[in-house]
Amino acid sequence: MALTRTIFIAGAGIGGLTAALSLARKGFRVVVLERVQRLEEAGAGLQLSPNASRVLIDLGLKERLGRRAVTPEAVTIVSARAGGELVRLPLGEAASARAGAPYWVMHRADLQAALADAVREHPDIELKLGCQFEDLAPHAKGLTIVYRSGNERRQDIALALIGADGIWSTVRNHLFPETQPQFSGRIAWRGTLDARQLPREYTAPRVQLWMGPKAHLVVYPISAGKQINLVAVVPGTWNRPGWSAPGNPNELKEAFGGARWAGAARMLIGAVDDWRKWALFSLAEGCKWHEGSVALLGDAVHGMLPFAGQGAGMAIEDAAVLAKVLGETPLEPGAQVAAALQRYGRARRARVTHVQQLARRQGRIYHMSGAMALARDLTIRALGPERVLARQAWIYDWRL
Ligand SMILES: Cc1cc2nc3c(=O)[nH]c(=O)nc-3n(C[C@H](O)[C@H](O)[C@H](O)COP(=O)(O)OP(=O)(O)OC[C@H]3O[C@@H](n4cnc5c(N)ncnc54)[C@H](O)[C@@H]3O)c2cc1C
Repeated sequence: MALTRTIFIAGAGIGGLTAALSLARKGFRVVVLERVQRLEEAGAGLQLSPNASRVLIDLGLKERLGRRAVTPEAVTIVSARAGGELVRLPLGEAASARAGAPYWVMHRADLQAALADAVREHPDIELKLGCQFEDLAPHAKGLTIVYRSGNERRQDIALALIGADGIWSTVRNHLFPETQPQFSGRIAWRGTLDARQLPREYTAPRVQLWMGPKAHLVVYPISAGKQINLVAVVPGTWNRPGWSAPGNPNELKEAFGGARWAGAARMLIGAVDDWRKWALFSLAEGCKWHEGSVALLGDAVHGMLPFAGQGAGMAIEDAAVLAKVLGETPLEPGAQVAAALQRYGRARRARVTHVQQLARRQGRIYHMSGAMALARDLTIRALGPERVLARQAWIYDWRL
């Protein structure tokens, strides 16, 4: 394969692996650099709404992912203030048929493993684990990419570089060092429970959202229903980067201890022994997407708060759009590549900004208290399931 068809991707997360598969399908040779030696089990569940699952299915991953994902029948929203279910949004098979793709929830590690398996099987993709992107230099033939493998510094020539290296992106730091993640003042705690430990009513294929003053809890099954994933979000000042620091369960029990929290939520919180926490950081809306023959993708350009359930979904959409744009015209190194990457950024910017804003707004809504929470609960009840779901249509109905 000609050198001019080689694209390097920094980062084998959800976005980087999806981009590798999408670009290889357009005839590119792809090299993925991933700094860790082994793809980690760390992380919690992810939600993949139809806009994202449609892309993955189109890449031929339906069976692989279907084995590990759960299709929830509904999302239930419960208010600690009102003490009961405010609304039940039907998902399940009927909604999947309507959207033309399923709503899936699954463990991040399962999704990453399925993508990595497909990548390893592809003859035009090379996945280099234990290789950390370090530097780049543009020139007439494209880019020289410099990366480290153990003590060795290596370099290669590529047509383009895609920085899919997450919210703490080295590629972004190289291009736009002024753009840095901001701490949100919130901490997400993740725990999992063996579904066999729990009564059936808690293990149904449902996404449950409990909202309370300054805290919320999201619960759903993952790993083909064998495990129940809990994510509790509370305010805090602890702000170290990372995804999986051990957390003291007593801190969380205190946050959810008030009599207002439903017994079910308190029981679930109390049942987890091993809590892991991550400080929630995000990037400001409107970051730059590319410079020359280098573009950013996923959290590297729009690391967002998780309250719209679209962090992975937007990275997956980015990957599909990037491959479409780069695959549209024959590319010579330099100006043509830069022009294509500019089109990619233009195609993504407005939609992603809306999703980032939605995530911030939902975070505020979930944690309301007092009169604001009362107004919120009355509004959700008055809207009812159909109108609440219709408000998500602009996200779920997206197509390439
Ligand atoms: C270990 C881990 C656990 C996570 N857990 C959760 C979770 O529980 N819930 C949630 O909502 N989100 C989680 N996320 C984030 C979530 O995966 C992303 O928000 C979303 O999927 C978008 O993915 P992404 O591909 O843009 O970035 P990421 O999924 O963050 O992937 C970035 C990848 O780049 C690699 N990388 C970083 N720097 C370099 C470098 N210099 N050279 C080469 N490779 C590099 C990282 O090791 C990582 O594999 C987690 C991310 C990671 C890395």
